[in-house]
Amino acid sequence: EQTDFISFLHQVIDRFEMNASEKIELKRDLPNGKYEVWIDKDKMIQVLDNIISNAIKYSPEGGTIHFKASKQRNQLLVTVSDQGTGIPYDKVDKIFERFYRADKARSRKIGGTGLGLAITREFIEAHHGNIWAKSKEGKGTTILFTLPLVNKKRRGK
Ligand code: ATP
Ligand code: MG
Repeated sequence: EQTDFISFLHQVIDRFEMNASEKIELKRDLPNGKYEVWIDKDKMIQVLDNIISNAIKYSPEGGTIHFKASKQRNQLLVTVSDQGTGIPYDKVDKIFERFYRADKARSRKIGGTGLGLAITREFIEAHHGNIWAKSKEGKGTTILFTLPLVNKKRRGK
């Protein structure tokens, strides 16, 4: 359904703030205006849950997770940055593959199937968006994704 993604994102972050530990800070750098997108809300909740749980899971206590959103031409760009363990540069592009888990020894302790981001990518692509990651080992990770904005001018054409 057509949804203002900014208020939708606020709701999802609110829920994490209520449940997540006080040791992680969720910082919002979100615009005030409306950014209308066409989404399956259940799938988009899963997308955000996966990205945010990773940011929490692979961050030390006391880290900050930073949310940003902006308009890039006719796309909405959403970024979620953490100050966690990061991912080696030669592995960043693999994290969206099924069952892929960077750093086997460390992630065995942390637990997970390696499916979260594969499903996330599948859902974003089903919404005609793109998803990718930037990361520096030891510094943190940023997950970026786009969604097509509803173009009001084109309606009825
Ligand atoms: P699950 O299926 O339970 O989500 P998972 O978290 O291991 O398991 P993905 O969410 O698909 O699987 O992530 C794949 C791998 O990418 C992770 O195992 C981890 O190595 C790396 N990764 C993902 N997000 C981050 C992040 N924010 N910081 C550091 N590494 C990350
Ligand atoms: Mg995960």
